[in-house]
Amino acid sequence: MKSNQQKSSYSLLIVHAHPDDECSSTGGLIIKSVKDGHEVILVTCTNGEMGEIKDRSLEKDIKSASSPQERLGEIRISELKKATKILGVQRLYTLGYKDSGMDGWDSNDNSEAFMNADLSVVSQKVAFLIRKHRPHVVITYNERGGYGHPDHIMTHKVTSEAIRLSEDSTFITEELNCWKVEKIYYTAWARSKMIKTWKWMKFFGAKTPLDDPDFREDKYGVPDHEITTYIDIRSFLGKKWKALVQHKSQITGNFFWWFVRLTGRWLYGEETFVCVKSKKPLKGEETSIFEGL
Ligand SMILES: [Zn+2]
Repeated sequence: MKSNQQKSSYSLLIVHAHPDDECSSTGGLIIKSVKDGHEVILVTCTNGEMGEIKDRSLEKDIKSASSPQERLGEIRISELKKATKILGVQRLYTLGYKDSGMDGWDSNDNSEAFMNADLSVVSQKVAFLIRKHRPHVVITYNERGGYGHPDHIMTHKVTSEAIRLSEDSTFITEELNCWKVEKIYYTAWARSKMIKTWKWMKFFGAKTPLDDPDFREDKYGVPDHEITTYIDIRSFLGKKWKALVQHKSQITGNFFWWFVRLTGRWLYGEETFVCVKSKKPLKGEETSIFEGL
């Protein structure tokens, strides 16, 4: 740790579940961090095979493949590579697990789905990457996986265990020493913004979770008062969008994202996070995840 005391550049490791998650909740932060001279390492756990194909022009290619899901996975990984290039991510690791689909889908029963993977095996893989890259900051999802997606919940479990393992001297990785992450964050969609977005989308006639007769506000997003960290990304919205649209299979024709684009400066000029661990106590609301390092 001593060698880092003089440094003003830090290492950030982000663990996401699917291709496109890196843009949607952390795209602006990644662009800003790279611009400020920090190193960004991204781990994407699944290939996103269960994503809904939003781009009709890709349907023929996918449906004519011997395994349409596998083909969609290939397409999504290539989209991820293009997006991360634009964001400036220095190292991308794809773990290659199969997308579990949304909670309750038949795909949840697939033994190869990420949610059914051996937690200790996946955690060891991520712990190895933590020891290899020695990140000062790690970002992942909260225990509810942000919005309840089984792969996001699994990503939370894997990352939490990997952080613990990377500090544990009984976990042996040849030639790699133990590493203690200084700050841990969860991505956080502010609940108020989410509800506001859906209300506007409803106004324009789009379907939103608000249409669900059992809709419960507390199932979505993070209560605003829990947010600790606000990253101003207004200068990077254009670049973030350029990266996001590389995920053509998911974004083209997806009303939610086009709405986010239209209202970007007004509703999405900042990315928000909850700091759950910090070596030094936070001094009030933060505007940088590297504060206090
Ligand atoms: Zn996801």
